Amino acid sequence: MHIVTQGIVLREVQYKESDKILTVLAKGQGKVTVKARGCRRKNSPLAAGSQLLVYSDMTWFEYQGRWTLQEAATLQEFRGVREDLTRLALGSYFAEVCEAVAVEGEDNPELLSLLLNSLYALDTLKKPPELVRAAFDWKCMALAGYAPLLDGCARCGEEPREPRLNLTAGVVSCAACGDGAALTAEMLCAMRHIVSGDPKRLFSFRLPGEQLGRFAALASDYLTTQLERGFRTLDFYLSVKE
Ligand SMILES: [Zn+2]
Repeated sequence: MHIVTQGIVLREVQYKESDKILTVLAKGQGKVTVKARGCRRKNSPLAAGSQLLVYSDMTWFEYQGRWTLQEAATLQEFRGVREDLTRLALGSYFAEVCEAVAVEGEDNPELLSLLLNSLYALDTLKKPPELVRAAFDWKCMALAGYAPLLDGCARCGEEPREPRLNLTAGVVSCAACGDGAALTAEMLCAMRHIVSGDPKRLFSFRLPGEQLGRFAALASDYLTTQLERGFRTLDFYLSVKE
């Protein structure tokens, strides 16, 4: 059976002499493991489409429950991400998170567009990496069913005064009502914008300089706390970011 789809490579593992095993997030298909035969050979027509973070038109062939890549025509290489160490490190983190939250074989169009839009924001819009990281992390958590409850203080129900975010419970409260990481009013407003605002305006928020770094760090802390795991690619990004 053949399938024609569009997909982005979340992970590539070298296999045998010239093959790769790819983890692809694809339209209508979700997360799928696809073998790319001979893609590491010089002049292989599959070479470009078998690279991490490349988005392509793909034709897959299924035999006995296994997929192989037959054709790949590049749609978006995200060259501006690929050629910058910080942006590439962050893009790799996005890919690793998508692989962790996506369910094998279950279509997830929102996650696919979040990943593509985040890479586009890094690549073409040249948004600050920390802003894109924060938007990706909060939105990804919301899509995966881990949205923090931001309507009001979890204890008194009022607009939180000196807001705190409880990373484990995923709720906000006033400093007097509960524990957690300190937020500014601007950070809380940005979280609401990302989690429940128009997805088309995901990256249209601003925070004063030093708040943005704290906001992004908090977003990743929330993600790793909720998923109960770390990410090698996040550690690498944190070691290379300016
Ligand atoms: Zn309160």
